[in-house]
Amino acid sequence: VLTIDHLTKQFDNSTVLNDLSLQIHEGEVVVIVGPSGCGKSTLLRCINALENIQSGEIRLHGELVTKRSRNLTGIRQKIGMVFQSYELFPHLNVLDNILLAPTKVQKRTKDEVKKEALALLSRVGLAEKAKSFPRQLSGGQKQRVAIVRALCMHPEILLFDEVTAALDPEMVREVLEVILNLADQGRTMIIVTHEMQFARAVADRIIFLDDGDIKEEGTPDQFFDAPKTDRAKKFLQTFT
Ligand code: ATP
Ligand code: MG
Repeated sequence: VLTIDHLTKQFDNSTVLNDLSLQIHEGEVVVIVGPSGCGKSTLLRCINALENIQSGEIRLHGELVTKRSRNLTGIRQKIGMVFQSYELFPHLNVLDNILLAPTKVQKRTKDEVKKEALALLSRVGLAEKAKSFPRQLSGGQKQRVAIVRALCMHPEILLFDEVTAALDPEMVREVLEVILNLADQGRTMIIVTHEMQFARAVADRIIFLDDGDIKEEGTPDQFFDAPKTDRAKKFLQTFT
């Protein structure tokens, strides 16, 4: 589905991603872990064409993903992204937050999207909140709305950047459960998280990023039970 080929990304003169290559297959759930500042968010932002890159290329089903593309809106629609900070529109209620992009950008009918949105909201336990405004919701509820909003665009791949990092502990689980369900449905996803138990449960493959490149990758069992590099061992020790 997604191919990253020799990607290099710099900010000013510092290299954040260094000649990084990675392939994500249909239906695969890849979890990216690594120390703070190693480039995880930058990588997701490159995949969503939010950043200019210095060299290499990213392709989704063969189509070039680049900020300079004339078809940028078309490409972005195929890549759903959920952020730590929800990014809901404060002046719109839950339903209108969800309906905005599918009706304005994808020109789908309000009735059709509304039906889908309500069904998805009830799947994540928020049927009653369709008319609420973001300020009336808990962090976990807001994050579930953000996930539904991304799903309603029918993306081919979903990117999650530390979506539970801003949540109180008791709300983390309800959000992680939604993502686990999406994995069970066979969604293609790239997840950045510091929740190692969750990473282990949801991932088909773990990628360990450090110093701008993939330092180790493998199944969750391989990575967590038998990390090969000293860096990965040291990183995992900080969680025990
Ligand atoms: P964390 O786990 O703390 O979220 P991260 O792995 O997501 O970290 P990034 O946010 O991708 O790390 O940042 C990687 C490096 O790039 C950092 O050194 C950061 O300071 C730098 N960086 C990120 N965004 C910019 C920017 N817009 N301008 C300049 N430097 C940036
Ligand atoms: Mg980050």
